[in-house]
Amino acid sequence: MTSTTTVPAVALRGGTSIPQLGFGVFQVPDGETAQAVSLALDAGYRSIDTAAVYGNEAGVGAGIAASGLPRDEVFVTSKLWIDSLSREAVRPAYEKSLELLGLDRLDLYLIHWPAPGLGRYVEAWEGLVALQEAGLVGEIGVSNFQPAHLDAIIAATGVTPAVNQVELHPAFAQRALRERHRELGIVTEAWSPLGQGTVLGDPVLGAIADAHGVTPAQVVLRWHLQAGTVAIPKSVTPERIAANLDVLGFEVSAEQVAAIDGLDRTDGR
Ligand code: NDP
Repeated sequence: MTSTTTVPAVALRGGTSIPQLGFGVFQVPDGETAQAVSLALDAGYRSIDTAAVYGNEAGVGAGIAASGLPRDEVFVTSKLWIDSLSREAVRPAYEKSLELLGLDRLDLYLIHWPAPGLGRYVEAWEGLVALQEAGLVGEIGVSNFQPAHLDAIIAATGVTPAVNQVELHPAFAQRALRERHRELGIVTEAWSPLGQGTVLGDPVLGAIADAHGVTPAQVVLRWHLQAGTVAIPKSVTPERIAANLDVLGFEVSAEQVAAIDGLDRTDGR
């Protein structure tokens, strides 16, 4: 296959854009994160996804600093954890993330989970809107929000999130939610885009991979790109880090897309 050229970017509501492929660091210990992020930036990733609760924002910041890349060439996302779901807690939590990352602003800040039982995600969203109004953050969005949660925050503030980051892979395709995002103008970002590796042994993916001379993981990531989804695969394995970005030199056909769509086990949920 041909090697990587430029990763496409998707426009966000706030006027910036996010690379369609980014690098996730969930479950990477802080002490190993700088090395993983360095490998990813060397390989050509220009978007890193972390979260306060991952405990590795310092490692992400160290990896970015070591790269020597200009700040505006790396898109950095972090997330507000549920221990900070109140209007007053948002700004200190954001500033703590910035301090650990060694940055003066994030490109995207997300509410990590709505935790509807706490009943505080709407006021937390008001806190994120205030951050953006104060010019302290590029884009604001949410994660793991269902349509009712989206409706509630939009109704309360008139501000639509730029992104909803949700679990999404061939076995959990989130068709209905993606349709709702399209209606609302929200970009869909896929977490666990490889199903944490569990979908990769599927014979349907194996056959498509063989047809293109690529790996099943590359087929899945290509499927995400062609669907317009932003994907943030995680790996600490150097060859996989590079291979997961090397998906721009082939296309899955409409028939192959349909076969991958057929792996959804959620009946369009
Ligand atoms: P992924 O779907 O990215 O899968 C990661 C797993 O797949 C790892 O075990 C990795 O192994 C393996 N893997 C990676 N590349 C390949 C490959 N080419 N071939 C075979 N196996 C591979 O799962 P994640 O859950 O990590 O999701 C990605 C990111 O999404 C997270 O890192 C995080 O940033 C975000 N996320 C957000 C959540 C949220 O609630 N908002 C929840 C969960 C994740 P190895 O590392 O050993 O190479």
